[in-house]
Amino acid sequence: MTKKITKLKCPTCKATVRAKDPDFPFCSDRCRKIDLGKWAMGVYKISSPALDPELLEDLEAPMVDNRE
Ligand SMILES: [Zn+2]
Repeated sequence: MTKKITKLKCPTCKATVRAKDPDFPFCSDRCRKIDLGKWAMGVYKISSPALDPELLEDLEAPMVDNRE
């Protein structure tokens, strides 16, 4: 029953994209750039201040205030 057709949804706008499309897995160059932009922003947020493991722990529990 399983057919070997690779179909995905565009991560940006959820349109169906086929593997043979030139901008796969995005439906268009525009959507690819939008997604890359988001991804790059995430990377910059993580990689700039968080090389220190203690900083990472602080980021994982931002709502906890254990100083009294
Ligand atoms: Zn799209």
